[in-house]
Amino acid sequence: MKKYDVKCLLCGEVHNPYSLSCKKGDDSLLRAYYTAKQLMPTDMPGLWRYYNWLPVEGIIEEGSGRTITYKSEKLASALGLDDLWIAFNGYWPERDAYLMTCTFKDLESFPTMQRLMEQEEKRIMVVASAGNTARAFAHVCSITGQPLLLVVPKESVHRLWTIHDDNHSVCLVTVEGDYFDAIALAGKIASREGFVNEGGAKNVARRDGMGTVMLDAVLTSNELPAHYFQAVGSGTGGISAWEASMRLVEDGRFGNTLPKLHLGQSLPCAPLYSLWKGTDAIDAACPDEMYDDVLFNRKPPFAVKGGVKNALEASGGDIYAVSNEEASYAQDLFEKSEGIDINPAAAVAVATLVQAVKAGNVKPGEKIVLNITGGGQKRLIKDYELKQLPVSLAVSAKDEDAENMVVKKVTEGFGV
Ligand SMILES: *Cc1c(COP(=O)(O)O)cnc(C)c1O
Repeated sequence: MKKYDVKCLLCGEVHNPYSLSCKKGDDSLLRAYYTAKQLMPTDMPGLWRYYNWLPVEGIIEEGSGRTITYKSEKLASALGLDDLWIAFNGYWPERDAYLMTCTFKDLESFPTMQRLMEQEEKRIMVVASAGNTARAFAHVCSITGQPLLLVVPKESVHRLWTIHDDNHSVCLVTVEGDYFDAIALAGKIASREGFVNEGGAKNVARRDGMGTVMLDAVLTSNELPAHYFQAVGSGTGGISAWEASMRLVEDGRFGNTLPKLHLGQSLPCAPLYSLWKGTDAIDAACPDEMYDDVLFNRKPPFAVKGGVKNALEASGGDIYAVSNEEASYAQDLFEKSEGIDINPAAAVAVATLVQAVKAGNVKPGEKIVLNITGGGQKRLIKDYELKQLPVSLAVSAKDEDAENMVVKKVTEGFGV
């Protein structure tokens, strides 16, 4: 029996399981439909615990972690909540949390890599990112040896570290210029022969990998929550939480109401908030002045079938926008009450929860899951030496020959 099918949400056509989009157009996401209607945790390591709802036929054992969910006491009491659950994504050995790049992007990179291996992909994977995604892919590629080209804005290069001594399968290119030039350049290179794009939100492995946050939270707390909080840039994590919730409703054991999604964005650069509210909360200088620029995405999958808008409508959810002051206060509150450092993006989720409590959008007794999308980097430094990835090439977006220079450098470097 087949483990899963990948179908277009618009036309219903069953696709090759590795497809990223429907041949009939780009108006819809594809979704994985699993044959097993009940979630059966396995004893495999890390996120592979949720193997039966991941679109993979095998695992990468080394270096994989998963979400750790626990019931909050101190933060909950500070906010006057009785049933607050923290879904922690990062490094926190005291709680058995081992996502080694300290964000939930590891939940996307491992299943994505596993599927490249299933396809015996020999082409070079291209990833453009402001940091956390790039780091997660560098980590997994350093384990599997898959050649990887990272194209990142020059300002983000400090985020490009791993815990591995040997990162020779990773080629890091920095781009000087507009923040979006990195993405544009990566896109051009990925469409060339010999290169392959990882697909972003369109990739079912990325979404179902992130969906394991909800699976872990529900398995640990025994029931679907009434509310789910997360900081978003592209909103892919919100879509993933919704898709996982639908599967859990179908499972039948965890309740039948979809959790309301409460998605948080960081001012002054909140494109998803703007799209949802019909306002204009984007500054010309974006992503400058943001609490964490990993939360900026110029083209989030909002209106596409199966995208952020559908997820919010189906769950009765909402998008919030938080100021830097609110985020900074929330970060302090969380770190002092829970005793672990968190990623600035995750502080935006905490601030969103604070706003929602103040507005009366959540009631004290309701079950709430707070996705801490990243944390424990300060904790990690106590145990590991972080190895900065060397820059193979620095290009300027203004340089007309940038694309060719990168391709030449990469193909020489990898000997293809
Ligand atoms: C990527 C990222 C987010 C936002 O994720 P979405 O793709 O928008 O769901 C939030 N927090 C951290 C730490 C991230 O790395």
